[in-house]
Amino acid sequence: MIAVDVDACTGCALCLGSCPFGAISMVREKASVDREICTLCGACVEICPDGAISIKKADIISSEGKDVLIFAEQRGGELARVSLELLGVGRGLATDCGSTLHAFIIGENLQVVSEKLIHCGAQVVHPVDLPGLSDYRTSTYTQIACSIITRLRPGIVLFGATARGRDLAPRVAQRLNTGLTADCTELSIDPVEKILLQTRPTFGGNIMATIITPSRRPQMATVREGVMELPEPDVTLTGLVKPFAMETPLEGIHEFCEVIHEKRRAVTLGKAKIIVAGGRGVGSPQGFELLGQLADLLGGEVAGSRVAVEKQWIERERQVGQTGSAVAPDLYIACGISGSVQHRAGIKGARVVAAINTDPDAPIFHRANFGIVGDVREIIPLLIAALKS
Ligand SMILES: Cc1cc2nc3c(=O)[nH]c(=O)nc-3n(C[C@H](O)[C@H](O)[C@H](O)COP(=O)(O)OP(=O)(O)OC[C@H]3O[C@@H](n4cnc5c(N)ncnc54)[C@H](O)[C@@H]3O)c2cc1C
Repeated sequence: MIAVDVDACTGCALCLGSCPFGAISMVREKASVDREICTLCGACVEICPDGAISIKKADIISSEGKDVLIFAEQRGGELARVSLELLGVGRGLATDCGSTLHAFIIGENLQVVSEKLIHCGAQVVHPVDLPGLSDYRTSTYTQIACSIITRLRPGIVLFGATARGRDLAPRVAQRLNTGLTADCTELSIDPVEKILLQTRPTFGGNIMATIITPSRRPQMATVREGVMELPEPDVTLTGLVKPFAMETPLEGIHEFCEVIHEKRRAVTLGKAKIIVAGGRGVGSPQGFELLGQLADLLGGEVAGSRVAVEKQWIERERQVGQTGSAVAPDLYIACGISGSVQHRAGIKGARVVAAINTDPDAPIFHRANFGIVGDVREIIPLLIAALKS
């Protein structure tokens, strides 16, 4: 609730210009806030020199809980890697808030995956196990997610930044009238305010912005795959499986006639243990064929920078970086890649990075654990020959 103390207000009108939504006007030389328009952003509170405007956040958020809830995504009974990564980060957040980590999952025959969620850190799992829900449906999943959140009243809700998560999370945020920070690379709890600090790259990856949701609940974020650490499953962990029963009829149940899978080879960079990636320095499609040979010998995948994609040396699905995939392999070999901030944003989760570059000052060497200053066209054939022998 926003309030103006008319006795304290001196009519300076500074608040008028501060309101991005035009919600403030002067009535008889006192500030007056239109609550229909006001979003409680707090800009007027900060600028008022007389402390005449206040927002009682407690009224808005005190009834909400502190628990952390994650959306666990499954396809054909297999959990998305990012959902397990969310459990890892979610467990830490719940500990820092002194609360409980919940997960909800939608589909059919969810007993086994519910157990797996517990072994990866969930303390309470809410399966919505109904016939016809194994395939993703926008409106039905949105309705279920909103019902669960409304009933559990968590303080924080996290989604993977997958195609489904990116479709679902904004719809849920809109229905619940709360904020959403997309594509977070770091999440933590403010030790004093106990609110969620949601950090993500912005301005083309040149700066990291930390975003908060001070006056709405739940605090919602999506997180990219491969950015957070994957928790090791621990079969000794125990938790509660509480099937969630919908109280309202489901919206938008359609009949699926057929699911047609795309014919192209699935690119699973997020799961690859070894990635051989190339950039402009690789020089040609033939150069990428050599990277492919090296990747095959190592049992890995080929990937590349945005330049490599723009030059059509590799498919769009193989781009690594801020606008491509975030990857977390054991070994990432960067060949002829300069290591721009946008590219490095995608390899934060890589355990070991080896770089080959002709320029000893290339930024990739700051991220690399091993570096070779040299020409990829000479070094890759040498590596292939060494592996073959
Ligand atoms: C909003 C935004 C989002 C972006 N998202 C992404 C993204 O997701 N992923 C991404 O990769 N980029 C992204 N970019 C582009 C990014 O800024 C860089 O332009 C890009 O990463 C550079 O690609 P590169 O390293 O292949 O090419 P360059 O920067 O041109 O580097 C080529 C490197 O190859 C070396 N080299 C040249 N010849 C050889 C040789 N024969 N042997 C060995 N080394 C050699 C050079 O010394 C140089 O270091 C984004 C940019 C913006 C603005």
